Formats: sequence, C-alpha cells, structure tokens
Amino acid sequence: MTDGPNYGFDTLQVHAGARPDPATGARQTPIYQTTAYVFRDADHAAALFNLQEVGYIYSRLTNPTVAVLQERIATLEGGAGAVCCSSGHAAQIMALFPLMDPGKNVVVSTRLYGGSITQFSQTIKRFGWSATFVDFDDLDAVKAAIDDNTRAIFCESIANPGGYITDIPAIAKISDAAGIPLIVDNTSATPYLCRPIDLGATLVVHSTTKYLTGNGTVTGGCIVDSGKFDWSANDKFPSLSQPEPAYHGLKFHETFGPLAYTFHGIAIGLRDLGMTMNPQAAHYTLMGIETLSLRMQRHVENAETVATWLENDPRVDAVTYAGLKSSPYYDRIATVCPKGAGGLFTFAVKGGYDACIKLVDALEIFSHVANLGDTRSLVIHSASTTHRQLTPEQQDAAGASPNMVRISIGIEDAGDLIADLDQALAKAVS
Ligand SMILES: *Cc1c(COP(=O)(O)O)cnc(C)c1O
Repeated sequence: MTDGPNYGFDTLQVHAGARPDPATGARQTPIYQTTAYVFRDADHAAALFNLQEVGYIYSRLTNPTVAVLQERIATLEGGAGAVCCSSGHAAQIMALFPLMDPGKNVVVSTRLYGGSITQFSQTIKRFGWSATFVDFDDLDAVKAAIDDNTRAIFCESIANPGGYITDIPAIAKISDAAGIPLIVDNTSATPYLCRPIDLGATLVVHSTTKYLTGNGTVTGGCIVDSGKFDWSANDKFPSLSQPEPAYHGLKFHETFGPLAYTFHGIAIGLRDLGMTMNPQAAHYTLMGIETLSLRMQRHVENAETVATWLENDPRVDAVTYAGLKSSPYYDRIATVCPKGAGGLFTFAVKGGYDACIKLVDALEIFSHVANLGDTRSLVIHSASTTHRQLTPEQQDAAGASPNMVRISIGIEDAGDLIADLDQALAKAVS
C-alpha cells in the first residue's frame, strides 16, 4: 500500500505499516523469527550503532514484524511513532522512563485498572518516582496536584473497570498550561472509539493484550508518541533535550525532532530495560487489529443491549455503563469516544459480595477470568481478584466495590448473553 493520508480507519487497520515481503512477496507479514541481522559490512554496522542509519541490529531493540505493528498502531492513533513492548504494564514503565528521575512525580487519575493503581502507588517508589492520585472530575484538584517535580499526567480514556470517561480535552488544557505531557491509556477504548492525540494527549499507551489483539492469545504493550511535544521548551526533560550519557552524548530532541521520544524508547528504553515484544506476539496482534473496527462495533452494540437489560432488572442495583443515558458520563461520549463507550462495564448485584461470587460461578457463556477485550464475554469480581490489593477507599474510587461485578462483553449473540446472565442472577439472588 502506498502511503495515503486519506485512507479510512478500516483500510489502515488492514494495511498500515505492511507491504509485501521484499524477499518473497509474502502477502501476510512474516514472523521474522530471528534474534540478529547480518550487517552488510563493518561501516554499515557502525552506522546502525550510531543511529545514523535506521535498520535492524538485534531483536531486543527492533524486529521487522514488531516494526509493522508499531507503524500500524501509530497510524491508527494519529501519532508520529510507536514502540511496542512486552505488556501493558511494561508500556507504562517505558512511557514514564524518559520523563522521570528520582524525586519526580506523576499526577494520575484514581479511576484506573487495578494493576496500574498498584504499579503507581507502590512499585514505582522503588525507582524514587511517586504518583499523586486525584479525582479527574475535579479539575482544580488536578491543577493543585501539579508541582515543580511533576513530569506527566496519566489517565485512561474509558477507564477500566468501566463506566467512566475522562474529559480528555479539559485535562489536556491543564497539562499544556503546566508544560508537561498528558499520557492516556487507551486500552479500553482502542483508537477506533477514541483518538486521545486528536483530543490533546501527548502520549498514548496500550495493553495490546486486550482489544487490539482481541483474541486472548498474547500479552503486549505499546507507547504511541504524538510527536507534538516540545521537549526542549523547559529543562524538565533532560533525557530528551540534553546530551544523553547512555548514548555517548546524543541529544535526542535536537537529532530526531518529532521522533525523539520514539527513538529514545528503542535506543535507551528497550536496549536497557529489555521489555521487548517478541515477533510471535506482534503477529497475533497484527492478525487481531485487521478486524478491530468490526469487533468494536459489535462489542459496543452488545454492551448497550446487555447494559440496558441489566438496568431494568430488579436483581441489579446499578449499571455503570457510560453508554446508558442514566450515566453521568453519557454526555462525554460525543467528544471523547463518538463511536461508543466500549464493551466494558460494571454492575451492582443485590446481595452484595456473596451474590457476586455466586453469579460468577453460575455463568456459563461468560468465563471468569482476569482479562478483558476478548471476542468471548468475560466476567470478574474485581474486589476479590484484580482490585484485591487495594484499600476499600481505593476500590470504591476505582469503581470496584465489593457488590460490583465487571463484565467485558464479547461479540457473541446478545440474546444468548442476556439469557446466561438471567439464569445466573436467578441462582445468585434469591
Ligand atoms: C490490562 C490493562 C493494563 C495492563 O496491561 P498488561 O498487558 O496486562 O500488562 C493496563 N491498563 C489497562 C486499562 C488494562 O486493561
């Protein structure tokens, strides 16, 4: 495919970044199952190691199959470049790594995937970094949380475990005014439903494990850079604006312009942290992305149908799906995710914790797993699993209270999903 700026999403999700294999003409992107690449000669090798020429050295840094996926996701997100890595959690560490130093902090939303709350509230402290958690509906509180040591703002577009949509344009205004990047985790929305860069985000991170792969086969992550942030506007980002000692004094921003952050992610991030995506994983994710829009349309359609049914069921106390008119976040759909509020939501079961446990055990089509964004419908009781490490206050703030069940609606027949929920609710709530 020639590069055409006007191709639509459905065309780009199949073609962006890929071309017939130059060696064999293979139409599908081959899995380049190789660790290393032969240099043409010693000068070629030196040029590659100096970043004077772009090419392949070693698969911890770059691999042709992974490179196709990087270009595909960057294109779908409207970014300048992307770096894939081994998981969504790896992507979050990799995203912060060029921005942070010991003593620096990131301002993050309280409404995040449970694992991200733990990663930010506990684990990053080992690097000397810290996170300040704020309710992102309180814009004054977000502004007040930013101090001289803040190096990024982090939130999710449609937040896991569901029902919450971040007002990305409003948060982007705050990050712009503070001269720091806004990082948006777009896992639950995917670029089909939400394009954070168009709404003002600097960086987008993904767990490609979820909807982008879509078939529950491999873990992966991705960081997309908008290419729009001026890393040299102030002295806050020396890894990008100043000579990099881990790369014999190279100034990434001066040398690579809008690709500075992407090149840093590969040349320093992957090289030294080693959280690399393998080419098999990239292959499965490329296969999944080809049908992203078709799946997301069905996920949204089914989620709307099932959420509406649940909302009208007397055994259910509440349904937090932003796609329902009753949701306080319904009005944000038009700007943030105009094609729908995704396939993920929670509902409160009459009978609390015990009823939730009975419900997940009684469901037959829904699988009880710690995953989301699969073609299959999935269910989890967050308070006893993914959000178990959190305090009750953190659980409530994250939308994972003990009486709540999270479901990830698949692409099956909506009628079958409703029938399954109906029989399980009958067993759970007596
Ligand atoms: C799953 C998930 C992550 C973590 O991704 P992994 O691939 O499991 O490491 C981060 N953010 C969100 C929103 C997720 O759903």
